[in-house]
Amino acid sequence: MVENEMLEIINSHREGILQSEIRKVMGIDSKKCSRTVNKLMKEHLIRREDELADGRKTFRLFPIGFTGPSEKHLKLLAGGSFSPCTGCDLECYPETCNRLNAWVYAIIEEES
Ligand code: SF4
Repeated sequence: MVENEMLEIINSHREGILQSEIRKVMGIDSKKCSRTVNKLMKEHLIRREDELADGRKTFRLFPIGFTGPSEKHLKLLAGGSFSPCTGCDLECYPETCNRLNAWVYAIIEEES
């Protein structure tokens, strides 16, 4: 199905892909490409931004779906979680905090 193929291509380009480029990659005409892009946008599966390429107005298409943390963000995780202090509104005693202790132990386990 054209929508699935396009979505797969867009999802593999987290930095975005030009609509004119995806049309060439898929070997479809501009009318079909626009229709498919509009359908994916209507389903909130992609978003697009205006862009000039070679002096012509086109669009850059971006995935919306979360495909997992990036390499950069993985460095901020321990045991698959951010620090429990993020957004925490408990009365804070770090020396005895079980949440913080569990997270620190997860860091130690991952590093050993
Ligand atoms: S140390 Fe514990 S109580 Fe304090 S901010 Fe972090 S998670 Fe919350």
